[in-house]
Amino acid sequence: MQDFEASGLRAELRRAVSSEGYATPTPIQAQAIPAVLQGRDLMAAAQTGTGKTAAFTLPLLHNLSQQAPGKGKRAIRALVLTPTRELAAQVGKSVHTYGANLPLRSTEIFGGVKMNPQIHKLRQGVDILVATPGRLLDHMRQGHIDLSQVETLILDEADRMLDMGFIHDIRKVIKAVPDNRQTLMFSATFSKEIRKLAEDLVHNPERIEIAPEQTTAERVEQVVHPVDQPNKRALLSRLIGRGDWQQVLVFTRTKHGANKLSQQLEEDGITSAAIHGNKSQAQRTKALSGFKGGKVRALVATDIAARGLDIDQLPHVVNFDLPNVPEDYVHRIGRTGRAGQSGRAVSLVAPAENRMLKDIEKVLKTQLPREKVPGYEPAPGQKQSQDNRGGSKSGRNAGGKGNQRASGNRRNGNNGNRGGNGQGRNGNRSPQRRRATA
Ligand code: AMP
Repeated sequence: MQDFEASGLRAELRRAVSSEGYATPTPIQAQAIPAVLQGRDLMAAAQTGTGKTAAFTLPLLHNLSQQAPGKGKRAIRALVLTPTRELAAQVGKSVHTYGANLPLRSTEIFGGVKMNPQIHKLRQGVDILVATPGRLLDHMRQGHIDLSQVETLILDEADRMLDMGFIHDIRKVIKAVPDNRQTLMFSATFSKEIRKLAEDLVHNPERIEIAPEQTTAERVEQVVHPVDQPNKRALLSRLIGRGDWQQVLVFTRTKHGANKLSQQLEEDGITSAAIHGNKSQAQRTKALSGFKGGKVRALVATDIAARGLDIDQLPHVVNFDLPNVPEDYVHRIGRTGRAGQSGRAVSLVAPAENRMLKDIEKVLKTQLPREKVPGYEPAPGQKQSQDNRGGSKSGRNAGGKGNQRASGNRRNGNNGNRGGNGQGRNGNRSPQRRRATA
């Protein structure tokens, strides 16, 4: 399939595509759309940013709209499962956008918000339901949802759903949908677990492999700034300020870390918001729209919260902490340089993270360039001790914290009572921080 005109999609959908400004199908769309239109099952390896949402939404809408809705309450004929609320909201939005000219109804259900408005929507009847597994099961248990008429089941980011422990929920949902359905499975990678799940799910699927994880990495310009943990925040403020970065997505490992960093950036005069699993849906939506609209300059996120965020032309991604799982690095930097644009990903790497960096480079099959920023180089001697520690089998984590703390204190004087951060909120500012905030 070379272009949307020849795709076999009905005119209403082609119109919607062209009003989105898409001139040509992306590779996953070119392969998936004809297969889904033919009613085939799909196993597609494609990550966010490849245009995968439209790849399943467009032919799905086409197929469903071939049959006029019957009289009486509509039955759910398509179910899309997603790992996170954000992705559910985003897929739901795509369904609305592409289906704007069609008489189909859809809704999204996910946790963290009240059930009643969702029940109300479900009672009115929908053709397409986009849901996260946990909340979907809640509704099923309470008898608000009948999946017996489902014709198409879609698992979006299946690998992530398994990572998040949804396997049992998914299996329960599958039991509630008819066996003779069409099943489309999307996953960034096809691990052993995913292939096992697929065995019971898809029948004679069309297999599509679009972008191996590494290609995002190739598209994105990446750099590592070695820096001691306590100086990361000052360095980040400096990079944002000096580089005049107007929109930067910053990753931290923990929710607490995200909150704290966001507050600190605010103190440094950089408008910021945190987005993570403990935030209410309203807070997340507000943070995201502030970020998209340019009111929030730095969005600080944890990996799970960031999954599925669709932000056009995001120029900068920063790994404030390296992720524990190397593959998450690829997901993170996939937030920049999307749909063929170029982007820049910066990692602030403390000596204690060198081992993680090596693991990431193994996955990327490349060495990332290191650039020391004058005034922020790791303290001499520390690297040595960290490398030795990293090389020994024992106490990798336990030792790391101790060392980090010790070095932070060494470098920043008397901040030992600040939980290893080495940065005072007020006063006690390191010279680097003063420079950064000036
Ligand atoms: P996804 O992989 O579904 O998250 O899509 C990534 C981004 O690509 C989204 O911002 C889409 O709006 C955009 N996109 C999807 N299809 C196309 C296309 N054919 N041409 C250009 N951009 C597209």
